[in-house]
Amino acid sequence: MIVVRDPRSAVDPSALMCRVIEACRDAIVVREAYLCDLDCAIGDGDHGTNMRRGLDALAAERQRLAGMPLAEAMSAAGTILVMSIGGAAGPLYGTLLLEIGRELSTGRPETEFPEIFQHAVAAVAQRGRSSLGEKTLLDVLYPLSDELIKHVPLQHLAEKIQGFADMTIDMKAMRGRASFLGGRSIGHMDPGAASCALLAAIVCHELAKAGAA
Ligand code: ADP
Ligand code: MG
Repeated sequence: MIVVRDPRSAVDPSALMCRVIEACRDAIVVREAYLCDLDCAIGDGDHGTNMRRGLDALAAERQRLAGMPLAEAMSAAGTILVMSIGGAAGPLYGTLLLEIGRELSTGRPETEFPEIFQHAVAAVAQRGRSSLGEKTLLDVLYPLSDELIKHVPLQHLAEKIQGFADMTIDMKAMRGRASFLGGRSIGHMDPGAASCALLAAIVCHELAKAGAA
């Protein structure tokens, strides 16, 4: 997570973590059916249910997570997501948070978050044996990482993220269940990219609101 740099800021990091988790859970609850519909078109129709299970599990543990040092909290959240989302997406979302937690635990300062995130996205790609342009959640994570490296302001970034998921509509799926459809996957948004864009936009928005850098 991005460090709150302003020492005059009244933001309590624990309260902020709770708020971010709650906002993510609420957004997924609202979009559960939509994410299932996207997955029905090119997969097996469970992505909304999977993400709902994951975010419900995270929300149930938010107080415990908020009481931990950030590195530990990210790792614990990653483990919760691996165990609760399931499917193909669980290990990928889990890897993202576990890697962020691992990088933070090596003593890297939180101010290096863009580099930490870039490293975590590479770990997700390795885990999924996938890369950019293959119609997966990585088509949101890679451009997001590029924008973070450029220090694009978070509120501005929040507004751009849905555009990354929209780009998957014209792509042909090369990984996961959707790849079985080959060219017939073209014309549909990737469900993992959609959930990833939704969550990333919420996190950016909440951090921007709290005055995080
Ligand atoms: P499942 O495919 O097991 O039903 P979900 O429906 O929860 O799992 O998640 C599907 C999403 O996971 C896809 O839309 C895609 O974004 C992502 N995904 C699947 N396989 C891969 C992979 N090998 N690399 C990256 N992302 C993947
Ligand atoms: Mg599915």
